[in-house]
Amino acid sequence: MLSRQEFKTEHAKVIEWITEYFEKIKSFPVKSQVLPGEIYNQIPGQIPEKGTNIDVLLQDLTEIILPGITHWQHPNFHAYFNANSSIESVFAEFITAAIGAQCMIWETSPAAAELEERMMEWMRDAMGLPAKWEGVIQDTASTATLTAMVCAREQVTNFESNEHGVPGNLRIYCSRQTHSSIEKGAVIAGIGRKNVVPVGAKDELTLSAKQLEIQIETDKASNLLPCCVIATLGTTGTVAIDDLKAISKVCQKHNIWLHVDAAYIGTALFLPEYRWIIDGIEDADSFVFNPHKWMFTNFDCTAYYVRDANHLIRTFEILPEYLKTKTRGSVNDYRDWGIPLGRRFRALKLWFVLRSYGLEGIQDKIRQHIELNRYFAHELMKIKGVYLFQDPILNFTCFQWNRQDDPDGKVLQNEMNALLVDRINKTGKAYLSYTKIANEVVIRVVIGQTYVTREDIDDLLQVIREEITLIS
Ligand SMILES: *Cc1c(COP(=O)(O)O)cnc(C)c1O
Repeated sequence: MLSRQEFKTEHAKVIEWITEYFEKIKSFPVKSQVLPGEIYNQIPGQIPEKGTNIDVLLQDLTEIILPGITHWQHPNFHAYFNANSSIESVFAEFITAAIGAQCMIWETSPAAAELEERMMEWMRDAMGLPAKWEGVIQDTASTATLTAMVCAREQVTNFESNEHGVPGNLRIYCSRQTHSSIEKGAVIAGIGRKNVVPVGAKDELTLSAKQLEIQIETDKASNLLPCCVIATLGTTGTVAIDDLKAISKVCQKHNIWLHVDAAYIGTALFLPEYRWIIDGIEDADSFVFNPHKWMFTNFDCTAYYVRDANHLIRTFEILPEYLKTKTRGSVNDYRDWGIPLGRRFRALKLWFVLRSYGLEGIQDKIRQHIELNRYFAHELMKIKGVYLFQDPILNFTCFQWNRQDDPDGKVLQNEMNALLVDRINKTGKAYLSYTKIANEVVIRVVIGQTYVTREDIDDLLQVIREEITLIS
């Protein structure tokens, strides 16, 4: 057990540990190679009777825990979407933990609430979101999307669901490639999984405005109640981008809540050349993106924006006696802007990152990643048997190897592609993931770790080449 005075003597050990971790990060296997139970079995079954010192703790951290860590900040982490971090963000997290404020309402830390308000404004304006919208930090995009669904539910049922429960005929529309958080949100919001209706375009990757309109008309004719449309900007599988403008027109016409899920590619809006992605946003109702994916702010930090903050507050506010304050109404009490009461001081890390980088710094980094991705895709195509599944987009490429044209060959093709990814991941030198599109395995590569360099991409290309040669 340490006293506060001991912080001065002991902190250096922790900083040293982190410094070394960053220095050695490329020597660790990106994807943890342990088997289930391997870590669990090394942890004693009971709380130790006597306390231990920091040296022993750090040693155990290195020996027991590190082997079971998948290194998300390794520059060759290319799986899923990144959850990148930065030194600035890590510093801010130290301080957030030290201050340890619980920022549920303005009074429980006015600076946290007011900094949050400003940070949301900074990002809104830099990203070209509508000037009148207001934002709030949430833990994850899943929570923000659930929040949006509950707001949509209350809009369409005129706040009756909050009072008496949810009717069984609410409908939610999205593409087939929409994120799993939509289904989960519908379950939690009481709308029900069966009421989530995928309306795919021909390619099955995006949401079709035309199909959407037909589905809405059909539903209305059968006494179902269209509640919410989810447009995805950057799907998890292939970073497909829905046509927001066309979708927003349909939503306007039928007066349906439009939630925009740009969890991953939202960061691209800091680049004016990608603003077209949110054409039509002024007619949407809510928007979410994750600074904790591609904006150098360590997990967790989600930015949720709404057109009408009053509606959000009316949906979520609950006012017990002990939370009534004199400042109520004149300040933002963010507990009313989402699901949990307790809130971390997340605005601080945004402040550190945005100020240390500046808008230019953010833009430069994102552009570098996009450039590295172009380079990667260009070099990748030179490898025999490799085909790009689609043009590289932002910092994302997806490809297939050993493509078979006859339908019977597709099973083998899928097995080979999955095997390739598995083998690459087992080398520990890079971590990729794959998805299935129209029953075909497609290998995904995201280049978004904060400090990734051209050499790291050359290393990645080398691993792909080697593994292909070995199994060809
Ligand atoms: C990552 C992602 C989510 C979920 O984000 P969390 O913050 O992990 O909940 C939702 N939608 C899309 C499009 C995503 O890429």
